[in-house]
Amino acid sequence: ARHWYYNQPPKGDIDAQTLVLRSEPVPALEDGEFLIRAVYMSLDATHRLWIGEWDIYMDRIPLGERMRGFLVGEVVESRHAGYQAGDRVVGLGTWSEYLVDDGSAFQKLPPLPGLPLADAFGVLTVAGPTALVGLMEIGKPKPGDTVVVTAAAGAVGMLVGQIAKIHGCRTIGVAGGREKCDWLKREMGYDEVVDYKNENVVERLKALAPGGVDVHFENVGGDVLDAGLTVMKDFGRVVICGLISTYNASGPVPGPYMFRNLIMRRLTVQGFVILDYLDRYPEFQQKLAGWMLEGRLKYRLHVVDGIENAVDALKLLYSGGNNGKVMVRIGPD
Ligand code: NDP
Repeated sequence: ARHWYYNQPPKGDIDAQTLVLRSEPVPALEDGEFLIRAVYMSLDATHRLWIGEWDIYMDRIPLGERMRGFLVGEVVESRHAGYQAGDRVVGLGTWSEYLVDDGSAFQKLPPLPGLPLADAFGVLTVAGPTALVGLMEIGKPKPGDTVVVTAAAGAVGMLVGQIAKIHGCRTIGVAGGREKCDWLKREMGYDEVVDYKNENVVERLKALAPGGVDVHFENVGGDVLDAGLTVMKDFGRVVICGLISTYNASGPVPGPYMFRNLIMRRLTVQGFVILDYLDRYPEFQQKLAGWMLEGRLKYRLHVVDGIENAVDALKLLYSGGNNGKVMVRIGPD
């Protein structure tokens, strides 16, 4: 079975030496363990932080260990009383074709009738709960509010706009390139879009929200965050979900420069980490799956085949080469 190992600390972007693929025999099971065949793996922007230098929200991955990630798979052999061959399990594991667990990292996938495995895993494991918690609990939008979302065409961003619409808000998505922006309006229900690669974001936001913005949902950081801070309304809320434009930086990261607007506009700025909300997943997943099945929450999956392509798939997140939620299909589902 093949596994990705953390081989060398990256200097800036992830390169061919950062993570390496190795083949090892599948180990025999001990009592209390079960063997999982991986089916899908989620690729998340935060993977770069797990092998970076920053002091982050959880333990980083020690050099020489297997790379960590969320996976869904099938139990193929079990010496654990609670799990049997054929069970579908999901959890925070390693980038591996086969994994051994004792029920501490993986749990049974809750039954989600009507949703294909890829959709359920891709939307309900990381992106959906993040969008829901970030918007509703941190951003606290009210009907009629104007909500701006950055990296709006990505896994989290495409969902945030739709959840905001479900709650009666007006939405403005910021994304890179005409194609993604057109798709956001046409397919994802965004009211307005800003192409940060080809338009002046501050000027466009001012034109689209002359009265100012109530909730800003940040996924990117840097200039895009500054533009957002510039156009906030008094007492607006700024949700710091991610700062992906800074994750590959090797030195100090500048900005935001519009920090003064925290005073001038009396803003509330709050970050959050979805892992703090795992105990509420059943509630979130039920709500999100309901909207998915009703066709009110649309999404796009960017599935890359083969564990050997996992690093290339991960890089899509930092280049913007992805169209939707990036995941790797490791084996047949
Ligand atoms: P996405 O599917 O949104 O992919 C990342 C997107 O970010 C790219 O498609 C690209 O979009 C944009 N991007 C990348 N680099 C830059 C850059 N330098 N400048 C501007 N835009 C850039 O990924 P996710 O949905 O998985 O993650 C989105 C954000 O949410 C990340 O910041 C991530 O860290 C955060 N997150 C936070 C969680 C939490 O618990 N707080 C949980 C999960 C995710 P484009 O083509 O438009 O440029």
